[in-house]
Amino acid sequence: MEDKNDKSGLLREVVDGATGIIGSYAATLTHLFRKPVTEQYPEYKRPMPARTRGRIILTRSPDGKERCVACYLCSGACPVNCISMQSEEGPDGRRRAAWFRINFARCIYCGLCEEACPTLAIQLTPEFAFSKDSIEAFVYEKEDLLVNHGGKDPDYDFYAHAGVAAGRPKGEHIGEDEPVDVKSILP
Ligand code: SF4
Ligand code: SF4
Repeated sequence: MEDKNDKSGLLREVVDGATGIIGSYAATLTHLFRKPVTEQYPEYKRPMPARTRGRIILTRSPDGKERCVACYLCSGACPVNCISMQSEEGPDGRRRAAWFRINFARCIYCGLCEEACPTLAIQLTPEFAFSKDSIEAFVYEKEDLLVNHGGKDPDYDFYAHAGVAAGRPKGEHIGEDEPVDVKSILP
């Protein structure tokens, strides 16, 4: 009885081993006749999805003006503090960044700056290949970041919506109450 069990166990091991070997050879032979999928980078650069989080740009409104109003929200949202800037008022009265700096050596490409931006100025792009041979070269200034297009949403114009007069005085819109004179409710 014991001898019979030994024989059937041995036979099962032989069958399992042979199946494994035949299976692996079959997989190898199948791949021998398949078209290779090797991509010759950098001669061929695979198109990346539009939402890929790569190098950051500063975009412009449809009128060609800078979208960034130097509100500091992106630098406040950045978890690694790699954005810095100084605000100023431009000759046309629009607020803008006098200088704007991103240290790409610290950036972790999380996209939080883009999420925080109210004007869609700062955007991450699919560009990922911008390695440098010195760490200082990763510090990009405004002139390196500013582009001549609107990026992912070219039609959006922050200034067309923000800071525009509502048309009627406060309290005269539909369902709106007269503004309260705060001095009248002081004790
Ligand atoms: S992608 Fe993230 S880490 Fe890079 S600048 Fe924006 S918020 Fe900072
Ligand atoms: S890029 Fe956007 S969030 Fe950052 S300062 Fe400019 S307007 Fe504000």
